[in-house]
Amino acid sequence: MNALFNNYSRRPISLVDGKGTVVKDSNGKSYLDFTSGIAVLCLGHAHPSLVKALQEQSEKIWHTSNLFDSPEQVKLAESLVKDNHLSHAFFCNSGAEANETAIKMARKHTGKSNIITFENSFHGRTFGAMSATAQEKIHKGFGPLVEKFTYLPFNDARALKDAVDDSVAAIMLEVVQGEGGVNPITEEFANTIQDICSNSDVLLIIDEVQTGIGRTGTRFAFEQTPLKPNLVTMAKGLGGGFPIAGVLGTSEIYDTFSPGSHGTTYGGNPLAVAVSQTVIDIVFQDDFLDEVKEKAAYITNKLNDLLPEEEFTIRGMGLLIGIEFSSNEVAPYITKLEEEGLLVCGAGPNVIRLLPPLTVTFDEIDQAISILKKVIF
Ligand SMILES: *Cc1c(COP(=O)(O)O)cnc(C)c1O
Repeated sequence: MNALFNNYSRRPISLVDGKGTVVKDSNGKSYLDFTSGIAVLCLGHAHPSLVKALQEQSEKIWHTSNLFDSPEQVKLAESLVKDNHLSHAFFCNSGAEANETAIKMARKHTGKSNIITFENSFHGRTFGAMSATAQEKIHKGFGPLVEKFTYLPFNDARALKDAVDDSVAAIMLEVVQGEGGVNPITEEFANTIQDICSNSDVLLIIDEVQTGIGRTGTRFAFEQTPLKPNLVTMAKGLGGGFPIAGVLGTSEIYDTFSPGSHGTTYGGNPLAVAVSQTVIDIVFQDDFLDEVKEKAAYITNKLNDLLPEEEFTIRGMGLLIGIEFSSNEVAPYITKLEEEGLLVCGAGPNVIRLLPPLTVTFDEIDQAISILKKVIF
């Protein structure tokens, strides 16, 4: 027992130093960090450009609140909507808060309250986001939940068609369910959703908190699908380790909020925006994204060569990769990998989730693969 509440099962190592993909613990042992702080450190630890951006901004001004003009927030918003059909942004502080915002916008914009979400989704821990999350273990003990969320099986087009009626404000989903086991959306299901949303006033909210900001090899994961979301939420990779989150929306959503409708004290704070702008300037380059795709193909091919199909399934998109074990719980393997110097995440009881920094090198991938080979086979 210590002075912290007991809401995490923490691993017994304390990371004190990091550079790129490599971290050191307090005993001086090195690891390859294929967790990236749960998909946050898209440019790895202590990227020189991010360190510089934070240092320079910290000597100018830290915080102003949203009482004042912020050309820097406007510029970041422009960078995020430059290459897609979206047009406006709101900045906040965490993935859950971004999802709360999107849920509020969907209700206010449509004047309706029902929102459809999917089994094994994860949208965060605050009341709205938790209620959107269709996982009983996350709700347990916290009821009553926010009303009017309907949970449907993921990738089941029939169930969705049957459930959509005039009361539905929005459909909300992850393109790849991250926490829920690395489950990508199928093309058929994406087509069905887009069909419904294009031919009705049902809004599409895509939670890109984990999949966004280059993680899947494109700026946002929805770009690789037929989906055209009205609202997109972001967090994790957006600040490369500095807390910032946001919501992007199309021009039709613009009038939903007016001054006083919604807000947050810290949202888009100058430190966060300076770091995030630097992240976006690097990650949203085509050649950077092409390299993410190359690394993802390299690692996925290696895993497929290595792992017998009967025992393992490799799933994912870009550098969000799941290794599903058909028979085993993965927790002991995660500990063993850590002992051998490779940090990975789980995603449900029998999936190992690889989330290397997008800047991981081919050499580091080879090292990680040989540790996986040693531990798993
Ligand atoms: C992590 C995550 C969230 C919650 O983000 P927080 O910053 O922890 O509130 C929401 N949605 C998805 C898809 C996530 O992966």
